[in-house]
Amino acid sequence: MEKVQCLIVGSGPAGYTAAIYTARANVKNVLFEGFQPGGQLTTTTTIENFPGFPAGIDGTELMMKMREQAVNVGADVRSGFVQSIDMSKRPFVATLDGGATIEADTVIVATGASAKYLGLDDEKKYAGQGVSACATCDGFFYRKRVVAVVGGGDTACEEAHYLSNLASKVYMIVRKDYLRASAAMQQRVMEKENIEILFNTNTVGLFGDNGVEGAHLVKYKGTDKEELFDIAIDGFFLAIGHQPNTAFLGGQLELDEQGYIKTGLATTATSVEGVFAAGDVADPRYRQAVAAAGTGCRAALDVEKFLAAL
Ligand code: NDP
Repeated sequence: MEKVQCLIVGSGPAGYTAAIYTARANVKNVLFEGFQPGGQLTTTTTIENFPGFPAGIDGTELMMKMREQAVNVGADVRSGFVQSIDMSKRPFVATLDGGATIEADTVIVATGASAKYLGLDDEKKYAGQGVSACATCDGFFYRKRVVAVVGGGDTACEEAHYLSNLASKVYMIVRKDYLRASAAMQQRVMEKENIEILFNTNTVGLFGDNGVEGAHLVKYKGTDKEELFDIAIDGFFLAIGHQPNTAFLGGQLELDEQGYIKTGLATTATSVEGVFAAGDVADPRYRQAVAAAGTGCRAALDVEKFLAAL
């Protein structure tokens, strides 16, 4: 069976940074990119807060540069999906999507997080027919049409702003009476005349005979001012946050109450010796690209130290 010193799962800023550091330290590594090479940043537009790019940089371009840098310094970057890892003994044994197995002395889990849905049956019913969790992927289909974005954080504001340049009108459906997004993002949204924010509003369902044609909403839910109303829309975009991608771990690592991998306060070590976690999958708090890259670096240094002590 093929054997490596460090198996890296995930190809966001955390995974690629871990690959760069481990490769430069002469640790025999392999990184599996998963279903979405480059991760969440490939579904965003310009990144303005990653240091080193004063004019901003396209998310996909940034990730391709990180990938190229990893390959240039000798990392073994492969497409493929790690289906499971047996962590009951070392070396760990990972099983890939095609059934192949690979042994590893250490693992860095950097699988990030995926978009959350509201949990409505209608989201499934209209999946691919008007329901999306990625404005930059699907926004193109809604040129000169009417769309709604759910959420009041930075992602929702960013998606609403992006869509407002394509669609004729964008509703933002916000459950509280304020936006949680940063002041700069809020201002961008407020400045757009074709964005209408529906505060104190929740979605209860979607309707349409031919894909999404509208949403059933409720204002002031659960109060005596509660009011049901419908809006006519062609697209319904979710932007209510993300959940960590840990299903493939099969409960072998300790998670916090929100499902993020628990690590030490000053290290990336998890509850299993030799397994480390980096990036959004272990970060309920900051969830920034630069923070993910930082923990990818830390995980690689932790791996080096661990291997040296074997
Ligand atoms: P957030 O958790 O910040 O915001 C989620 C939003 O969705 C909130 O408004 C929340 O409402 C709402 N929400 C959550 N669950 C539901 C639900 N069931 N029904 C209705 N509304 C719901 O997530 P984001 O993805 O926006 O951001 C994540 C992190 O990434 C943040 O740290 C953010 O700053 C960062 N980010 C930064 C960007 C940048 O700097 N350019 C761009 C994008 C993200 P409520 O407020 O009521 O909880």
